Amino acid sequence: MNIQEIHKHFLESSGVSTDTRKIKKDSLFFALKGDNFNGNSFAKEALTKGAKLAIVDEREYATTDQIILVEDILKTLQELAYTHRKHLDIPIVALTGSNGKTTTKELINAVLSKKFKTVATQGNLNNHIGVPLTLLSMSSDTELGIVEMGANHQGEIQSLCEIAQPDYGYITNFGKAHLEGFGGVEGVIKGKSELYLHLIGHKGSLILNLDDPIQQKRLGSTHTYTFGKTEEAELKISYALAEPFAHIKFSETIVESNLIGQYNEVNLAAAAAFGSLFKIEHSAIKEALESYIPSNNRSQLIKNDKQTLIMDAYNANPSSMEAALRNLATTHATYKLAILGDMFELGEAAAAEHQYIADLAEQFHINQIVLVGSNFMKTQNSAICYASTEQFLETGLPDEVQAQLAQATVLIKGSRGMALERILNLLNVK
Ligand code: ATP
Ligand code: MG
Repeated sequence: MNIQEIHKHFLESSGVSTDTRKIKKDSLFFALKGDNFNGNSFAKEALTKGAKLAIVDEREYATTDQIILVEDILKTLQELAYTHRKHLDIPIVALTGSNGKTTTKELINAVLSKKFKTVATQGNLNNHIGVPLTLLSMSSDTELGIVEMGANHQGEIQSLCEIAQPDYGYITNFGKAHLEGFGGVEGVIKGKSELYLHLIGHKGSLILNLDDPIQQKRLGSTHTYTFGKTEEAELKISYALAEPFAHIKFSETIVESNLIGQYNEVNLAAAAAFGSLFKIEHSAIKEALESYIPSNNRSQLIKNDKQTLIMDAYNANPSSMEAALRNLATTHATYKLAILGDMFELGEAAAAEHQYIADLAEQFHINQIVLVGSNFMKTQNSAICYASTEQFLETGLPDEVQAQLAQATVLIKGSRGMALERILNLLNVK
């Protein structure tokens, strides 16, 4: 069966399913392979549970008319997504970058949905499977799509662009994330710039933050819309951290967000720029940005009577770690406690980057630093160290730190694999 025929079935279906535990009735089941399972073996079960058709790529599983045999499931899913994207013919906004993609995506979606029927990436589904699934979740009444693209090696953004064919693109920043796969910071710039190259090649539009010298270099390469502090910016922004929340101002509009951290100012500004580019009224942009409340352990502020928790345990890399530490350093708290977990995927840079963060934390005069993980254990520091989150959970905090918790502002941040949110119970103030 060719891809056009599969697309015809797709249009008559209720969408795509990839997990037999969550089969949508009348959907197309794609039997993707994971590290520990072979989706092919679930094809029959998917049909029993109500899927309309199942797509497999191993002949022995193609046992009924409702099971379609293709050469490669993942490739078919990607080709179907591309076909569907072409069929819909709507503007697609793509965003990538080292940090802040999901937050910025949510903010852009909040703004653009004031005027358009939008569909945006769910959660963090931003890879070679997530991007196709995002495109396939758009229907004939979708007016605009917002697609987050993640990457940890060269070529990945280019192939995601080939599938999604974006018309507008924004790169949040070029930071120190996934250094291992990209081969250093220059590699990160090259990798993320694949989005720019795609847009330039397809006469798309770049949204540029003029305060970022790397983004500024792209001026004039294709249609651009600019924002930033400088006079030359098309949307001139001023920033003001009204502790602990990020505030921005553009034209005469002041946005008072519910996002903590100075690093979120630029995320808000980018969303305002998209709103302005798409001619959304400033009052509507303000309303959208002010009503966005973060969740999922990303820049979440958890407050009880006296204690303030900055819960940022969703992920970490050197750039976002530095941003979060800076933010903690600038808060006016009586007692500041930073609980920092290892940063993964740094390759050869791991030792130096962990040392850099350990040193930085000390320079910032944070009252107590707690370092968790084998990488931080190897650094020179005067912090309290634990070899792993498990060890931290078993040992707990020393009494003298525990005694300060009632009045503390606590930052919790580490790579996903550290799952530092597990330590929340240790912080219960007695
Ligand atoms: P992922 O690679 O997991 O998809 P992401 O790029 O989508 O991450 P977010 O989930 O939005 O990023 O944010 C993750 C963390 O990155 C935040 O909690 C915050 O610590 C940090 N962060 C967010 N925005 C910025 C920014 N503009 N600059 C630096 N750090 C940021
Ligand atoms: Mg993300």
